[in-house]
Amino acid sequence: MTDTIKSLAALLAEGKTSSVELCRDYLARIERLNPALNAFVTVDAEKTLREAAAADARRAAGQAGVLTGVPIAHKDIFCAEGWLTTCGSKMLSNFVSPYDAHVIEQFKAAGMPCLGKTNMDEFAMGSSNETSYYGPVRNPWDTDRVPGGSSGGSAAAVAGRLAPAATGTDTGGSIRQPAALTGITGLKPTYGVVSRYGMIAFASSLDQGGPMATTAEDCALLLNVMAGFDPRDSTSLERGKEDYTRDLERPLAGLKIGLPREFFGAGLTGDTARAVEEAINQLKKLGAQTVEVGLPNSKLSVAAYYVLAPAEASSNLSRFDGVRYGYRTPEYKDLNEMYEKTRAEGFGSEVKRRIMIGAYVLSHGYYDAYYLQAQKLRRLIAQDFVEAFKQCDVILGPTAPTTAFKLGEKTADPVEMYLSDIYTIAVNLAGLPGMSLPCGFDAQGLPIGLQLIGDYFAEARMLNVAHQYQLASDWHTRAPTL
Ligand code: GLN
Repeated sequence: MTDTIKSLAALLAEGKTSSVELCRDYLARIERLNPALNAFVTVDAEKTLREAAAADARRAAGQAGVLTGVPIAHKDIFCAEGWLTTCGSKMLSNFVSPYDAHVIEQFKAAGMPCLGKTNMDEFAMGSSNETSYYGPVRNPWDTDRVPGGSSGGSAAAVAGRLAPAATGTDTGGSIRQPAALTGITGLKPTYGVVSRYGMIAFASSLDQGGPMATTAEDCALLLNVMAGFDPRDSTSLERGKEDYTRDLERPLAGLKIGLPREFFGAGLTGDTARAVEEAINQLKKLGAQTVEVGLPNSKLSVAAYYVLAPAEASSNLSRFDGVRYGYRTPEYKDLNEMYEKTRAEGFGSEVKRRIMIGAYVLSHGYYDAYYLQAQKLRRLIAQDFVEAFKQCDVILGPTAPTTAFKLGEKTADPVEMYLSDIYTIAVNLAGLPGMSLPCGFDAQGLPIGLQLIGDYFAEARMLNVAHQYQLASDWHTRAPTL
């Protein structure tokens, strides 16, 4: 039995524990294990316990919601009032947010205390958590290995049971890939379902917040809290609140699973291929049918992404100039030198690489050749999914090409690192929902992730498939010994 947020909510409802007690337990575990894992950038026990006491008081007054009192950790990309909010960067190493992101507001309204802010790749750029100014996060299954990125702190916190749940963001795979590498469940919603207000922008047309937890059922409960229209984000979709748990118990008989031939090619290593194959068989036993589908343009998704995401990043990150937010170089002669030194000192090398690529592809003479071409590719990639979903209800494949790799293994070669997201990026380009759930272990005992991709707004169906799979398997209950 895992400590799911569902089970913790039940204990609270039955009066068998209190939020203060739960938070104390998790804070003690963080204190013991965080020095080795580096999953949290900021922990503030006093603040957490104050929120927990308020949650207990709310329950005593008969005003508790489903998750009131259940603690959660937040990726340090979400602005949270009074909390240091670094986005994994030196640039924001002194930034205490004066306001809450929409996502944080929603969790506060639900009465869920914040256990702390989790480590991440700098400005969410990375697949291994090694670009963080606060040092790498380590994978709880093997501390010589990376937890994936960029939401690696959240993933390691949940996998190591330092938090029962956490928030993440996913621009090209940053919820799903770390979920896969740490053996947890994570979901990226349809673009526009979760408000980006107060979520520090990397690539605005791709960024989407989502839940990370041990089970699909927990992700559904968390998405119920996170999702919702917010007029302060112009890309937030004006849709009614949905109950994402509504289809969890639906039987899978008649479900059509699309298997993209491009996802089952030569790039898939033995253990991952085998585990995904076994998961397919398991789902077939539950009544699902499979159909081969084609995503012919998906092979171009990494290339298109590394034009579009840096282009947007170069614009979004221009606000970090030493004037309005965060770090400013201590010594400078004039305004220009102040900008230059601030940005040279405040950003790490991966962020600088992206800003330079972005400025290049947007510049006169190159805009048509790179940026516009990539936009066209993006449309073709999205169109492939439209065609594929005419034949199936969900698409299935691996989440990541490999299991957790060693620290330092891919840092010398950015392109090698970028390929970690080869199965996830197309989903962001299309704006579709996707999730990763554990489906086995490799020969070295490292978790393997299974990816499900849903049609637009089909989160509930995707969660249904994942939940039914988890009822029939126990991979999600396995935890590393720490
Ligand atoms: N690894 C990808 C990148 O570095 C995706 C990151 C993300 O989803 N935030 O851009």
